[in-house]
Amino acid sequence: MSESRGRKRTGGRGTRAADPQELARGIQSGDRVLLARAITLVESRRDEDARLAAEVLALTASRRVAAIRLGVSGPPGAGKSCLIDNLGCRLGDEGRRVAVLAVDPSSSLSGGSILGDKTRMDGLASRPDAFIRPSPAAGTLGGVARRTRESLLLCEAAGYDVVIVETVGVGQSEIQVRQLVDVLLLLLLPGSGDELQGIKRGIMELADLVAVNKADGGNLDRARGTRAEFAGAVQLLPRRTPEWKTPVLLCSALTGEGLPELWREVLDFREHLLQRDLLDYRRSEQELFWMDQLLEERLLERFHRHPAVAARRKEIRGEVRAGRLSADAAAALLLKQFS
Ligand code: GDP
Repeated sequence: MSESRGRKRTGGRGTRAADPQELARGIQSGDRVLLARAITLVESRRDEDARLAAEVLALTASRRVAAIRLGVSGPPGAGKSCLIDNLGCRLGDEGRRVAVLAVDPSSSLSGGSILGDKTRMDGLASRPDAFIRPSPAAGTLGGVARRTRESLLLCEAAGYDVVIVETVGVGQSEIQVRQLVDVLLLLLLPGSGDELQGIKRGIMELADLVAVNKADGGNLDRARGTRAEFAGAVQLLPRRTPEWKTPVLLCSALTGEGLPELWREVLDFREHLLQRDLLDYRRSEQELFWMDQLLEERLLERFHRHPAVAARRKEIRGEVRAGRLSADAAAALLLKQFS
């Protein structure tokens, strides 16, 4: 192992990884390049990278800041990036250090990426006190979100005290993202009642805050109407957080109007949780959720890698396809190989 102690190639995207100690030190001293490199390790599917990533996470665990973790979700075009850019810059001006992690579930489905390389969040991207990371990783949505969680922990280790997780609202993603953040904001567009029908009730139920964006110019009246409709709709939903009525706000990511009020609500909600010991509760529930997710993921991985399973899987699948074996019997057979 001639290169074991120094830098070595990790393959994949051709990144070069420093050793875990060096990465951990770099992250803690605010080196964004090393933070990005560590996140690349977290996102990698290679065993060796995963091992290194776990080491970096362990080395940095004791010095993480308690960041405000905010999730921003909503349909494409709602203005999420614009809002995060504007809000992030304002927070930066107040002395906050903002990190943005963009979860992109589309990339695993289409091979393309909604977030992709779009040059978005220009304002925030040019600030030395901010960090932006899109994650157009392939794989299951759960996998993407799991890696986002570890990336989030690394951002906290790097001292970012506001970590924003952006996700495109496609239903499933909100469920995962809610398991990552303290506060989930659902961003909507001014629209008709028909669109209100299209927003799944489940997503509304998950949101801690709702904001109708683009409340500016000729959109303002329509935005007010939409706000009223959603305010009516959330009244009817069960409360997920005791004594918290989900506020529905108006804002404009373009003009910045409503953003200070929106941030105030984020802080209020977090305070609401803190005062009732609900933040710790929420985070411990999240830990359990991720424990289960990881367990399932790793068991499945082991299962698929098991030589006896691998040896017979093709044949057994063929039998199922030909109708000679039921799905149930086939699953039982494969499990028997595993055990
Ligand atoms: P995302 O897909 O939700 O991230 O949406 P983007 O942030 O990329 O915004 C989509 C489009 O809406 C862009 O052309 C933005 O310039 C525009 N946009 C975003 N926020 C506002 C807003 O508050 N008012 C107006 N009028 N346009 C906005």
